[in-house]
Order: sequence, then structure tokens, then C-alpha cells
Amino acid sequence: MHKIHAHAPPVYRELSPWCLWRNGSGAQKCWLLGGWLALLVLCAALGVGMVIWRWSGIPIEFGGVTVYLTIYPPLLVCLLLTLTLGWWWGAIPAYCATLSLALYAGMPLPWALLFAFSNPLGLVIMVIGYQAIAMRRDLRGLNSLLFYVQLAFISSVFGSSGALIWSYTNRLEEAALLPIWQGWWLGAFLQSVVLAGPLLALLWPRVERWMAAHPELMRKTDTSSRQSILGLLASVTLGVLIYGFVTIELAERHSGMTSPAHALAVLRQTMWIFYWVFAAIVLFIAFFGYELFRHWQNSQDSLLAELHRANQHLETLATTDGLTGLLNRRAADRRLAAEWQRARRSHHGSAMVLLDIDHFKDINDRHGHPAGDAALRQLASVIQSVMREMDFAARYGGEEFLVVLPDTDEQGAHSFAERLRQQVAATPVQHEGESFAMQISLGVAVVREDEAHYEPWVSRADRALYSAKQGGRNRTELAA
Ligand code: GH3
Ligand code: MG
Ligand code: MG
Repeated sequence: MHKIHAHAPPVYRELSPWCLWRNGSGAQKCWLLGGWLALLVLCAALGVGMVIWRWSGIPIEFGGVTVYLTIYPPLLVCLLLTLTLGWWWGAIPAYCATLSLALYAGMPLPWALLFAFSNPLGLVIMVIGYQAIAMRRDLRGLNSLLFYVQLAFISSVFGSSGALIWSYTNRLEEAALLPIWQGWWLGAFLQSVVLAGPLLALLWPRVERWMAAHPELMRKTDTSSRQSILGLLASVTLGVLIYGFVTIELAERHSGMTSPAHALAVLRQTMWIFYWVFAAIVLFIAFFGYELFRHWQNSQDSLLAELHRANQHLETLATTDGLTGLLNRRAADRRLAAEWQRARRSHHGSAMVLLDIDHFKDINDRHGHPAGDAALRQLASVIQSVMREMDFAARYGGEEFLVVLPDTDEQGAHSFAERLRQQVAATPVQHEGESFAMQISLGVAVVREDEAHYEPWVSRADRALYSAKQGGRNRTELAA
């Protein structure tokens, strides 16, 4: 139903491991699963490397303020896997990398198992975000870029939840918590924006094409957009609350441990970072609200357009005859009533021709019911070719048709009827290689101003038709 073209809104797709296993070719399985396993091993190794080379909480001077940065390369790999293939593809290596890091650093197993959930948690936010608003991930436009940067921030805050467990299990003094926490979220955020972002921008067009070309490998997302939006709003709210609380709490403890002068400096620095981060959050919320509004407005617009189309279709169905495309009896009666009123008021007269196919039962019996239908369709098209723009025609009964000729007197209507009769008789019906002639009888009646309703008008035409039948058929009779 949905045609994929350049301007179609992007849809959220994920590579399904299950579909890959069932529908994928040998080469696809080999490359995708093999490559993914290799990356998983690489991530676990980099996790351990992180402990060995101490990439954690590196202090950096930034405009007179000391900020702490943690470099965590597995995150880069896992983020790209999540954003290109899907959550599971990134979350599992992320879990393995953090788990091996923790175990290598000597964290007790139960804590390590919990600790390892922090990065997959951050990745969930990314996925929910892109499910809620299926924004392009090529980062080529301002919207796409802003959305990514802001999601990366919330995702980093969630992903850094492990920092608290880390400090606790390593029995670090409380003063060391701030650098570790800050290092985690800031490091993750900067890596997402500065490294993962450009790589994603390069990869995304190819990934999107590949996904569109391999629908058999993709998971149908059954989560509704509404659910994802609620999920994202809840996570953003929670993320902001967590961020604000933890930052203030940690800065307070950090400064409590040192001399008053140092404490003041720490509080000031934290305040500024806090300010910038909150500015980013406010921007995100405004932007997200705007996107949401646009998203709903678009879907409402298309809903309205669809409704309009459906209404028009229903209107057509309700007023036309399915076989011939002419007006049906109901619509004909309505038009007839209006025409009768108009003719009486304008004193211009109006004529009606009621016609019926001669011996139509024989046509059905001899050539079959489908051939009878073909005859009805052909009669309709002959009527349409003979009548004027301002006339209207209807299928009034089974094989009985009505043509109304506004501003026409008896003589004009009679010559119209005769032309129609001759045209029908001269046009054989062709059906599945068979050809047979068809004839019609017609009754003509004009509006009489002494009648109080349009029904007597029809009755007079009907009686004229009856006398045409009685008089030998294939003829036109005028109403008495
Ligand atoms: P007459 O010349 O007196 O009009 O003879 P007739 O055979 O046409 O008689 P009548 O008007 O009673 O027959 C109508 C027939 O039209 C009966 C019915 O089977 C057939 N008919 C009605 N609607 C349809 C239709 O939609 N398709 C087909 N193939 N036949 C129809
Ligand atoms: Mg008939
Ligand atoms: Mg009939």
C-alpha cells in the first residue's frame, strides 16, 4: 500500500535476527553474524583496555572550568550498531564490553551483572526516540542533527548510571564521584556527537537503501508511535530529574570534602556546566514538542484527506449504479424531484424518456447473463453518447433506463428518443466473440404544470412505454 519514494516519511526498521536466520542467504548470515561477533569480541577487548589504559575521568580544562571526560570506544561501536541494525545488535556487545571491563577491574559478579546494563539502557533511549519520531538518521538537515544531538545527551545520562555503581564497588571516596559521573555522561555524549554522528551520517543512506531492499530481513515494528512517544517523554523527564539531582548532590558532597575556597570553585564550575546542560535540555524539550506537533499535524492532515476520499467514494457508491456507472434509482429520484421543481418554476419545460430493452429475457436466455450485463453496459454508453451535457441518465430498474432532458419540449424529446432508438438498434452488442442486436422501446413525457408532484410525470412516461411495448416494440410513444 505504501509506496516508497524519496519524499516518503522514513519508517523505523530493525534487522531481525530471527528473520535473518530464516530468510537470509548464506552470505548474508555469514557477513552479518560473523561481522557482528567480531565486533562483539572487539568491544569486550576494548572494555578491558579501558581499565588497563585508564581512559576514565580524564580532566580537561575548558574555558577556565575543569571538566572530566571518559573515553569508552566500545560505546561508539555499539551506538553505531544500534542506530543502523537495531537495539539488540548494539545492546549485547555493550553489555559484554561493560561486563568484561567490570570483571577485569575486580568488581563482584552480581554487581558486574547489574553494572553492565548501564550502556544498553542508554541505547534504549536512542531507539525509543527514533521509534517515536521516525526522523532520518543521515544528519543532513538541522532537524535531523538537533534530534540526534539531543537524544545523544539523554541517552548519555541514562548510560552513565553505572558510574554510581562503579564508585560504590571500588569504595571510592564520595569526592571522586563527580569526576566519574561527569566523565561518563560527557564522554559518552561527546563521543556520540563528534565520532558516532559523522560516521552515522556517512553510513545511513546506504543502510537505509539496504533495509528498503531487504524487507524480508526486517522486523515489523508493532510498537505504536504513541507508545514510543510516551516512553520517550517519560525517559526524558526521568533523565532530566536524575541528571539535576545527581549533579547537585555530587557537587555538594565533592565540595564538602575540601577547603571552603575549593568548594566554592567546584560549586561554581558545576553550576556553569549545569546551566549549559539545562539549556540543552530546554532546547530539546522545545524542539521535541515542535516535532511532535508537526508529526501530529501531518498525520491529522493525511487522516482528513483520507476521510475526504473515503466520503467521496461512499457518495459515489451511494449514487451510482455499479454495472453501468449511471445514476442509480435513488439518486435519479432526487434529481428528478429537483428538475421537476425547476421546470415548474422557470416555465421552460422538461422532458423525460423512459426506456426498456425489448425481450431482454431472451437475450439472457440465449447468450447468458454476462452477455445481458454487457448489453446493459453498452446501452448506458450509447445513451451517454447521444444525450447532451445538461441531461442526466439513470438506470431506473433492471433493464429500464431514464433520461431527463431539461428545457426540452415534446417534439425535441421525441426526436432524441428516436435518435437513441436507432443508434441502439444499429450498434450490435459484442460479448466474448458473440454479436447480437438489441432493441429498445421508449416512452416520452413532458412536465405538466397542473400536476402537484413529479411521480405522475414518471407514471405518464411509464404508460407511454407500455403502449410502445403493446404497439409492437422498437418504437417511441408520447404520453397522452
Ligand atoms: P419486454 O420486451 O416486454 O421488456 O421483455 P423482457 O424480456 O425485457 O421482459 P422484462 O422487462 O420483464 O424482463 C426483464 C429481465 O431483465 C428479467 C431479468 O432477468 C433481466 N435483468 C434484470 N436486471 C438484470 C441485470 O442486471 N443483468 C442481466 N443480465 N439481466 C437483468
Ligand atoms: Mg424488457
Ligand atoms: Mg423491464
